[in-house]
Amino acid sequence: MRSTVRGISTSGRSMKTIGDEPGTHERYMQRCIELARTALQRGNVPVGSIVVLEGSIVGEGFETLPASNDILGHAEVIACGDAVARTGSKSLVGASLYSTAEPCFMCSYLIREYEIGQVVYAIDSPGIGGATSNHPILTDVSIANWGPAPNIVAGILREECQLLRSSTTRQ
Ligand SMILES: [Zn+2]
Repeated sequence: MRSTVRGISTSGRSMKTIGDEPGTHERYMQRCIELARTALQRGNVPVGSIVVLEGSIVGEGFETLPASNDILGHAEVIACGDAVARTGSKSLVGASLYSTAEPCFMCSYLIREYEIGQVVYAIDSPGIGGATSNHPILTDVSIANWGPAPNIVAGILREECQLLRSSTTRQ
């Protein structure tokens, strides 16, 4: 397993980011994998995502594409929507988003708007990834009116997620 950390969030609010204890990222990613398996069982691309705030899972989602025909059916969108509904807040400052896949442009926009402080993912999304593509919406600090970029942790349980993904292609 290989993990890389790019960029450190320096939010003025000193919220504690999770993942300090060994195995924390892996534990949460396992939950994402369970959600990804649910997506696959329903005929969708196997992507799962959760939102964690102060040590609790406050949002969960699994991919509903292609079955739903809804372009908003990305796991991360659904997990963020769930978190907003459950917390009753449209700001997710201090939260971490976990996903089996690197968030795409659309999901990266949401993550920045919700001010999520940390993004942990397993496998890259070539060409459309918010951190690794030529359009790094997730990490670009030059966009007006957006706060600090989230801390990015990539490669958590990569092999397991890659295996799950290997039979399908997103979008
Ligand atoms: Zn997406």
